[in-house]
Amino acid sequence: MSDVRNVIIIGSGPAGYTASIYAARADLKPLVFEGSVTAGGALMNTTDVENFPGFPDGIMGPDLMDNLRKQAERFGAELIADDVTEVDLNATPKVVKVGDDTYLAKSVIIATGSGYRELGLTNEKRLSGRGVSWCATCDGFFFRDQHIVVVGGGDTAMEEALFLTKFGKTVTVVHRRDELRASKIMQDRAFANEKIRFVWDTEVVDVLGEDRVNGVLLRNLKTGEESTLEATGLFIAIGHDPRSELFKDQLDLDKDGYLLVDAPTTRTKIPGVFASGDVVDHIYRQAITAAGSGCSAAIDAERWLADQG
Ligand code: FAD
Repeated sequence: MSDVRNVIIIGSGPAGYTASIYAARADLKPLVFEGSVTAGGALMNTTDVENFPGFPDGIMGPDLMDNLRKQAERFGAELIADDVTEVDLNATPKVVKVGDDTYLAKSVIIATGSGYRELGLTNEKRLSGRGVSWCATCDGFFFRDQHIVVVGGGDTAMEEALFLTKFGKTVTVVHRRDELRASKIMQDRAFANEKIRFVWDTEVVDVLGEDRVNGVLLRNLKTGEESTLEATGLFIAIGHDPRSELFKDQLDLDKDGYLLVDAPTTRTKIPGVFASGDVVDHIYRQAITAAGSGCSAAIDAERWLADQG
């Protein structure tokens, strides 16, 4: 059992580290659980980040996260690379457990992010950031005049495909079924765009290329026939899983599992519990928006703590 902390922050992506910087500079001496495997969050899996303001020449994802981590430490945040395994947010003080160890805090900031669903192919991981992407807004710019494949059939996949037509020479949507799940309006827009073509009843079974993607291997699910499609970009848009499992019995979630907050604040329904970043945000999903909401969460927590006297 530990002392009662002012604030415990769960997560170490752009949201968690930014909340840590602000909370530390407000002299709250935050305790931060970074996670055991993915400390630094989603950007640890990518190469160039060209859209985070302040880096005119871009910055590598892991370098950006290392900078944020150092900045949080410089102001006195205490960082622990472990996974939180259980919480009791209704207790006073709030209880955060890491295995058998129990930590107590007056307030908690949740910044656990969301996982991008993967196809589950070995070469998908190997070529991540080298042609394989989960974010058109982030990476579309790198594929000017190139052939791009988008996997998925929902609204997000259509949004990504439409956005990518600004850059790509062609955009091929590969979908497992013979019809889209996307809303009618998104389907109409995609069908009307002459750069987009569809490959139905088909799945991507391998990503090809040594150092960078140069094609995908496709299999038709009805005939079993395999074919190669040349492309330098593969955008996977088959969904996200917000990491809200730990909190689902205590906080309100939307139908897709995102934590609900009293927007534009980061307050959840439990006083003293705040949530920020991609575990809340199913719209923007950017490093800068996650960082921005991490900042908001730290300010919300600081003001809430001040009100408690
Ligand atoms: P995350 O970055 O996902 O971090 C969540 C953190 O929570 C992780 O550190 C994890 O370890 C921790 N965590 C989870 N559960 C627990 C637990 N139980 N206990 C302790 N810790 C826990 N955005 C851009 O703006 N520009 C880009 O170029 C860009 N490129 C991208 C490339 C890739 C390959 C990916 C996957 C995403 C990219 N994004 C980009 C999106 C961006 O990475 C996310 O929007 C952003 O990281 C979300 O920040 P977050 O802090 O909410 O969550």
